[in-house]
Amino acid sequence: MLSLQTSIVGRKVIYLREVESTNDLAKLLALHEDEGTVIVADRQTRGRGRIGRRWESPEGGVWMSVILRPPLVLEDLPKVVFMGAVAVVETLEKFGIPGKVKWPNDVLVEGRKIAGILAEGKAGTVVLGIGLNVNNPVPEGAISMKDVLGSNVPLVDVFRTLIARLDEAYSLLKERPASIVEKAKSRMILGVPVIVVGEDIEGIAEDIDEFGRLIVRKPSGEVVKVVYGDLSIRFA
Ligand code: ADP
Repeated sequence: MLSLQTSIVGRKVIYLREVESTNDLAKLLALHEDEGTVIVADRQTRGRGRIGRRWESPEGGVWMSVILRPPLVLEDLPKVVFMGAVAVVETLEKFGIPGKVKWPNDVLVEGRKIAGILAEGKAGTVVLGIGLNVNNPVPEGAISMKDVLGSNVPLVDVFRTLIARLDEAYSLLKERPASIVEKAKSRMILGVPVIVVGEDIEGIAEDIDEFGRLIVRKPSGEVVKVVYGDLSIRFA
């Protein structure tokens, strides 16, 4: 019915009206489901961001997770996050919306958060979660595709596009992991002043390196590499 023409991502789609968290369910199902299985729900009652932060997921958005078994080591988790971010930006593009990646795991439109990516991995399996605001109401300071376009967007079309872009990005990730970092970099907000929250680091977000670390140049000229983990940046 969805007619997904993908090779891995979306080979199987498990749809639920409601779930606590698609990532939590995907982690459980990963014990016996094949790679590429997608869990998607109309709403999440306990959607999560990083370090347990709440992700608002009322009906109208795309709340999904995909089970992956990339041939990568755990240090490569940022590449899986970037793969998700690139797929989201490309999906938005298809609907005429210019999006940018905010290091490490958000997608912004007009400076406001439209999507969040959460990759959680252990022992060969990675669950990649994506929350994308489509027609749903959003928290203050966030934005939805509907806000940008001024009218409702067909949710199934957005989902189908996102699955196709994820499938492409996943083959690229497996064939040439470095090119995912390059792609993410070309769509990232760089060259602007940032504050690394809680770390007392302030400077210009200059670049990302091959491991996905953010390179910040302090006013003194000193360069700091910020490792992907629990850290966030704020634009100064
Ligand atoms: P960050 O990367 O910004 O530190 P997370 O990736 O952990 O944060 O995402 C959680 C945060 O995102 C929440 O604390 C909240 O501020 C914001 N948020 C929650 N739900 C949504 C949503 N549907 N759209 C945009 N932002 C949201």
